[in-house]
Amino acid sequence: MTERVIFHIDVNSAFLSWEAVYGMKERGDIVDLREAPSIIGGDEATRHGIVLAASMPAKRLGIRTAETIREALVKCPNLIIKPPMRPLYEKYSKAFVKEALEYSNVYEQFSIDEIFLDMTGKIELGKTPVETAYKLKDQIQNKLGFTVNIGISSNKLLAKMASDFEKPNRVHTLFLDEIREKMWPLKVGDLFSVGKSTGKKLEVLGIHTIGDLAQMDLKLLQSHIGKKHGRRIHQFANGIDDSKVESRGDINKGYGHSITLSRDISNENEAGVVLLSLVEKVAARLRRDQVKGDCVVVELRDKDFHRYTHQRKLDVPTDITDEIMKTARELFLECYKGTPVRLLGVRVTGISKEEYSQMGLFDNEKKEKLRKLDASLDRIRQRYGNDSIQRGSIFLQSGKEE
Ligand SMILES: [Mg+2]
Repeated sequence: MTERVIFHIDVNSAFLSWEAVYGMKERGDIVDLREAPSIIGGDEATRHGIVLAASMPAKRLGIRTAETIREALVKCPNLIIKPPMRPLYEKYSKAFVKEALEYSNVYEQFSIDEIFLDMTGKIELGKTPVETAYKLKDQIQNKLGFTVNIGISSNKLLAKMASDFEKPNRVHTLFLDEIREKMWPLKVGDLFSVGKSTGKKLEVLGIHTIGDLAQMDLKLLQSHIGKKHGRRIHQFANGIDDSKVESRGDINKGYGHSITLSRDISNENEAGVVLLSLVEKVAARLRRDQVKGDCVVVELRDKDFHRYTHQRKLDVPTDITDEIMKTARELFLECYKGTPVRLLGVRVTGISKEEYSQMGLFDNEKKEKLRKLDASLDRIRQRYGNDSIQRGSIFLQSGKEE
């Protein structure tokens, strides 16, 4: 088997860079936001909301992603605050993916500003992977005005770890024979898929670096972290990852569920119950696959098979039942014309892998509570079956999963 060549391309401070490039190109800004203390974050007027991205000068003043704007303003009273602009990000995201696709058509988009590119067999004759990565990196910068880091390895995990080394505008390799020197000295919490709570458990066990984890006894690790997750992070620490670069089609299809009702529904409350059962199923599948979506679509058909769909983008990707339900209910009320409903469907699209999602980095307390509730309901369903807490089951005739 020939060794694979995988690139992980990661836009440096994506939201901030994109806002800066847009500002200078389209709005005539004189200040480059990347060179001033600036952030992308929620509502400036009310001073609420959270820092989604911070410039290097802002970071130097101690401003961190996920802290509140109020806290950030204490550290820098004349901080420049720009609101998030999702459509803009999508435009620049598409633009850099397009450049990458000139190099390989086998790619996987993990988040709005990160993709994997399978470069196996695609390196130009006489060129090295590093030279090819430099060319792509410079091409993106010259054409689009923002910088990326590219990590190179023989698998996705190591490529992803490599792109996270020194930033910005850099190319790094992390091949298997380099992990001892380049990855093992890093803090265990820096390993992809070691979250905060796992990190804490490992610290208590005296596991401080990725190298410590790699050399830990697997059985002992599993007894503390769980069998599946224990094995996964043990393999990762040893640089092992066989997962394929999956094409974008798989991830963008979305998660949907629809139901043909055994009798027509013509009241909002009944429809709400059915809608909730659909949302619960869709959200549970998102969580099972550890992905989130940022667009909710509601479809309904009346007894004459007229079809109505409405959709809405969310500010932040989610897998939380309550959040999806809130939007789904609003969308339903927008489509609902008062005629008896025969079919209802809910779909979540704009899927990104949870761990890679930049906007998913922050969580507030309310979200944490909702997440715990979802997790406990998921456990009950796993144990007692899907319909054990299916509130809308009396209406259901046939469900369709996509
Ligand atoms: Mg990035």
